Amino acid sequence: MAQLDVIVIGAGIVGSWAALHALRCGRSVAIADPSPGDGISGRNSGVLHAGLYYKNGSLKAKHCTRGKRLTEQFIEEHPIPILRCGKLVTCGRWGSADAVDELYEKALDNGADELEILQEPGRFFPGVLGARALHSKGTAVIDSAAYLKALHHAIETEGGVLLKGRRYVEGDPQEVTLADNTGACETMSCDMLINAAGLDSDSIALRAGLQGYEIRPVRGEYFRLRKSYPLEKLVYPLPASVMKGAKNDTALGVHYTIHPSGEIYVGPNAVAASSKEDYHITATAEEFADSLGEIIGTAAGPIFTADDLAPGYAGLRPRLFKNGVAITDFVIAESSPGFFHLLGIESPGLTAAASLVEELPFR
Ligand SMILES: Cc1cc2nc3c(=O)[nH]c(=O)nc-3n(C[C@H](O)[C@H](O)[C@H](O)COP(=O)(O)OP(=O)(O)OC[C@H]3O[C@@H](n4cnc5c(N)ncnc54)[C@H](O)[C@@H]3O)c2cc1C
Repeated sequence: MAQLDVIVIGAGIVGSWAALHALRCGRSVAIADPSPGDGISGRNSGVLHAGLYYKNGSLKAKHCTRGKRLTEQFIEEHPIPILRCGKLVTCGRWGSADAVDELYEKALDNGADELEILQEPGRFFPGVLGARALHSKGTAVIDSAAYLKALHHAIETEGGVLLKGRRYVEGDPQEVTLADNTGACETMSCDMLINAAGLDSDSIALRAGLQGYEIRPVRGEYFRLRKSYPLEKLVYPLPASVMKGAKNDTALGVHYTIHPSGEIYVGPNAVAASSKEDYHITATAEEFADSLGEIIGTAAGPIFTADDLAPGYAGLRPRLFKNGVAITDFVIAESSPGFFHLLGIESPGLTAAASLVEELPFR
């Protein structure tokens, strides 16, 4: 039976950073995934968040700003498309300008930098509605597929073993069973076993004896803007947590977003998914045009109509509950000595991953 220091379950952004960090701490590492790239890490907005929104003292707040710095460092060393476009959070057509100030204070508390308040942002950025906006100049967008590919390449270059097509079936660090796509099994052992299985991390945690955690997937749907528009800036509404005091709502609101390829997308909304494979787009172009019209438009009315929007793609948020109660932060839990579980790694997981994995005791 092969013996390693660390085995990671799941080669999304989080598992890949766990593997890379373990390697850089001098550990021998294997990382298994039946279909790397098909999880949450392949279906998101690709935004490197500046850390504006998160509750002070939370793991999200702690790791978003540092994770962004570490990710940018990694990107400098690898061929990953990045658009350093910055972002506006506007009170839009209906929101409260004071809530923008509230968000600004929260962002400063979280250590976010390169921020400014803009009065009437439409004077600087065409069509952006609202009396006031928070401008985060350091927010960037990356090609998340290229980012994941570069992480996998780094793992292999630095001596890790990427077990593509291999799925964790059962076991604890003493005896880990993996199966390939034909169902053939092999066993390995390790000192540390890390569950970074994204949407499936709850069922693995439960089988390991960690009671009460449940992931209820929430779909985020995107529409693509069919026409070009001269605004190279991400534009977000105020998040529900600030607007309506909805403390358990972690979605950031339907926003105007640009991919490094230049394509413009609008999304994501938040819809309860029927399963962990439910990627169907159910919202209509009219609904998305209405949401977009709250942040971009003219005094006279909308700039974009439903005809300007085509269905794009959808991703699933791993919304975490414990004993039926929503948990809004990332969770890292140990079910038995050396078996760690990363649960509820939703946004800003892409940004925070490089730093979050430092919570794991590799040293
Ligand atoms: C709509 C949406 C938009 C988002 N936008 C942003 C954003 O702009 N910025 C940001 O910072 N974050 C964003 N996020 C969050 C971010 O995408 C996630 O936090 C991050 O990608 C989670 O990565 P992961 O590695 O935990 O999960 P995944 O990428 O899902 O990786 C888990 C992997 O585990 C594998 N797996 C499952 N079961 C097993 C098993 N039994 N054995 C082995 N492997 C297994 C799966 O195949 C998968 O590849 C967004 C998320 C969503 C849904």
